[in-house]
Amino acid sequence: MPLHAKEHVRDNLLDDIYATSDLSVAMPKYKFPAGENRPRDAYQAVHDELMLDGNARQNLATFCSTWVDPEIHRLMDECVDKNMIDKDEYPQTAELEARCVAMLADIWNSPEADNTVGCSTTGSSEASMLGGMALKWRWRERMKAQGKPTDKPNLVTGPVQICWHKFTRYWEVEHREVPMEGERLIMTPEVVADYCDENTIGVVSTLGVTYTGQYEDIKGISQALDQVQADKGWDIPIHVDAASGGFLAPFCRPQLEWDFRLPRVKSINASGHKFGLAPLGVGWAVWRDREELPEDLIFWVNYLGSNIPTFALNFSRPGGQIVAQYYNFLRLGREGYRKIQQACYDTAVFLGREIEKLGPFEVLYNGEGGIPALLWSLKPGVDHGFSLYDLSDKLRSRGWQVPAYSMPANRQDLVVCRAMIRHGISRDLGCLLLEDIQRCLDYFAKHPGREPMSAAEGASFSHTGAPMPPAK
Ligand SMILES: *Cc1c(COP(=O)(O)O)cnc(C)c1O
Repeated sequence: MPLHAKEHVRDNLLDDIYATSDLSVAMPKYKFPAGENRPRDAYQAVHDELMLDGNARQNLATFCSTWVDPEIHRLMDECVDKNMIDKDEYPQTAELEARCVAMLADIWNSPEADNTVGCSTTGSSEASMLGGMALKWRWRERMKAQGKPTDKPNLVTGPVQICWHKFTRYWEVEHREVPMEGERLIMTPEVVADYCDENTIGVVSTLGVTYTGQYEDIKGISQALDQVQADKGWDIPIHVDAASGGFLAPFCRPQLEWDFRLPRVKSINASGHKFGLAPLGVGWAVWRDREELPEDLIFWVNYLGSNIPTFALNFSRPGGQIVAQYYNFLRLGREGYRKIQQACYDTAVFLGREIEKLGPFEVLYNGEGGIPALLWSLKPGVDHGFSLYDLSDKLRSRGWQVPAYSMPANRQDLVVCRAMIRHGISRDLGCLLLEDIQRCLDYFAKHPGREPMSAAEGASFSHTGAPMPPAK
């Protein structure tokens, strides 16, 4: 029978997508579907659900890339079938990864770029696990050589991103997290030594602290640890969590000494998918030299073709993000990165000024001395009739995601809003946000007498849920 004679088939071919038998009924949600759906119908169903997600470009909570060149979309598509672990099958992807590591060693001023080792990861979290493990292994070797016990390792950090809480818990290391105190919201050279002893596997210092955006004074911390070594003989290495700063300071503050120019800095992690401008799913870990990465952390796999070294928590992983990272390095160079990042800093300063003009707010940070971000609180000592949780909640009605959160110990009293100013947050987009903040203030003024939203109520609207840490 010819196709056109089959009425029911013809109907199916001509039906509007929402009139098909697939989409005019509910799709299965939690039970595995018994039968098939046409690709275009299944696509539309999934596509429509995704409309309910927040709009990533308006998500000012995230540090991650929400805008990439059209060319990156093409490369990602071309790489959709490439597994970066198959270095023998996809040697050119492996080569691009190696080139990225060498280029990072270059911008992070490795004294011997040839002897630098490093790898890509899924992000800074995996990279921090690898960096932390290397610290723990090296410390154990040092202690064993001196005939000392190795059962009480500790790690000293400032107020850190959650990945370091994971590292210390998963790898059974005591976490000595220097708390905030008064005006001091980061770890400083003055306090670091108080937390160290001979069981300290390393100090993790952050270039772009999650809560405040500030850079810690890594050179100062390094000098404080030089003093510890002179006084006590403990040679404590530094790992820099440069998740954001690793792609900012080299371009916008090249004179700032935070990287391998400091001999005590043994390893660095960074998120390619944050200010590295790559799409989501890539981070980097780089060691100063081979000696800092113990051999027995490296596995050699021979079942992919040749004998290939790997140091990673994952095995299979997409290759596209690495390729896209290389594209960015090639496309932008130092000049391109500097221009993009500087535009973000300028926008942060501009928006900070404008937010202060609105009246109730006090800008605590506008990108100076750290990463391009804005941090503001309500002026103290005034009954504003709304809380920052209210503001955050109300801004959502226009699609903006601006987290409100309280600081960790010992400044839980300090509640802030934070906006990350990233690639793609243009001056005009920023002005639209300002208008919407003004709209919220007008609304609060017109509807007085409400009980301001509390942290507990606000938490369900926050970026990470209760309790904060305000991750990415
Ligand atoms: C974002 C961030 C991390 C975690 O990085 P991912 O790439 O999201 O895994 C770690 N440390 C700092 C300072 C960060 O900003």
